[in-house]
Amino acid sequence: MPTTTKRRPTFQTLRGWAISVLHEAGAIRECEEHGWMRDRMDPHAREHAVAIARQEPPAGLSADAAAAEVREVLDSIGDSCPECPPQ
Ligand SMILES: [Zn+2]
Repeated sequence: MPTTTKRRPTFQTLRGWAISVLHEAGAIRECEEHGWMRDRMDPHAREHAVAIARQEPPAGLSADAAAAEVREVLDSIGDSCPECPPQ
């Protein structure tokens, strides 16, 4: 019996999708110097991102799962660039 333990390439893709949604909504912004994504701490932009995720979930994902994914990715992104000097 062949055991095909496939890795889950969807994870990277799903995270990439969530980041693009967050970026589109303006919930995150890239550090101009270092390229790290930063949480803009904008509640309206967050809601907008979740709304986009619900309206346009990626293939195979329910609206709820898409919204949860966006929130999860947003939680994993800090509000400051790790390479910028603290202010
Ligand atoms: Zn930076």
